[in-house]
Amino acid sequence: MSSVKKPTVDAKKPEKGKQEKKQKSEKTVNSMFKVEGEKITRARPTCERCGPGYFMADHHDRYTCGHCGFTRYKQK
Ligand SMILES: [Zn+2]
Repeated sequence: MSSVKKPTVDAKKPEKGKQEKKQKSEKTVNSMFKVEGEKITRARPTCERCGPGYFMADHHDRYTCGHCGFTRYKQK
């Protein structure tokens, strides 16, 4: 009888070098729209650089765009 024992080969695990980053879900975009009847009022100003659709963060003295970093100071 021939008893051939096959060596157990350890399956090499793929190296964890690249971990895919989870993209942030932009759930806050929809909440910025205030739909009143047929009118859509903008709660925040939009970015002048990025165009409509890119809202700017409302700070106490300025608006900042989180997309391009544009800052617009509030005028009193
Ligand atoms: Zn912008």
